[in-house]
Amino acid sequence: MTLPDPQSDFGFRRVPSDEKAGLVRDVFDKVSPRYDLMNDLMSGGVHRIWKSVLLDRLAPQPGQILIDVAGGTGDIGTAFLKRADGRTEARNSKNEQPASAYLCDINEQMLHAGADRRDQQGLTDRLTRVCGDAEQLPLSSNLGDVYTIGFGIRNVTNIDAALAEAHRVLRPGGRFACLEFSHPITEIFQRIYDTYSFNVIPWLGEHVANDRESYQYLVESIRRFPSQDAFAQQIKAAGFSRVTYENLTGGIAALHMGWRL
Ligand code: SAM
Repeated sequence: MTLPDPQSDFGFRRVPSDEKAGLVRDVFDKVSPRYDLMNDLMSGGVHRIWKSVLLDRLAPQPGQILIDVAGGTGDIGTAFLKRADGRTEARNSKNEQPASAYLCDINEQMLHAGADRRDQQGLTDRLTRVCGDAEQLPLSSNLGDVYTIGFGIRNVTNIDAALAEAHRVLRPGGRFACLEFSHPITEIFQRIYDTYSFNVIPWLGEHVANDRESYQYLVESIRRFPSQDAFAQQIKAAGFSRVTYENLTGGIAALHMGWRL
């Protein structure tokens, strides 16, 4: 048995593991008011395409229960419910149980930031907000049909503990999906991407969100995240089956999926 590491990466810094969650919470406290705008600016809107690919692969169904962890302002949770509702409409079937979702995040302010948009879309009553840590989800076992975590797992202190929790809260037959920044698959692309991310993103952070430091952390944390293959191994080690991944935009992001059988 390996003992938990007393130190963790926080971007390029090493910090005591028991301090990391608080530092991450501070980052998202600061970025929450401008989070959605910054996401669009940093990625040129491409994060929407990546999330759309995630939903294509999941093919949400009426009646399913989604657990969206590190759900932030709720992009994935709301899109999941809308896609599932679209299937009911397409089948013109009024008796189907609608899909529902738990939107879980360690940061109350991130959950709060997307609340108005969810209200406008009339989805609030099917989206239960849960404030909690991915490593210790305040949810019962065998609850969800689908577990998603989008751009969240690299912020977690103990990734193996978060994966074990994902396995616990999914019912047998449930699907795991993790969308995360990853590593460009060619060296030349990696160099271009590094130049962009280490210069433009902190600059945008400073000028749009008035917070260079948080965005410097974001790019450093991406660099520290395990490779696509190494992360797939961690997912398998957590007990998931048929683990696959696909690179998005040349590996800038990757979508890892697996089944809890
Ligand atoms: N999933 C959303 C999306 O794709 O737009 C939000 C992603 S945002 C980059 C990362 C989120 O992870 C933040 O809302 C942050 O509060 C949350 N987070 C960080 N550490 C967490 C943890 N240990 N447990 C749960 N959520 C966490």
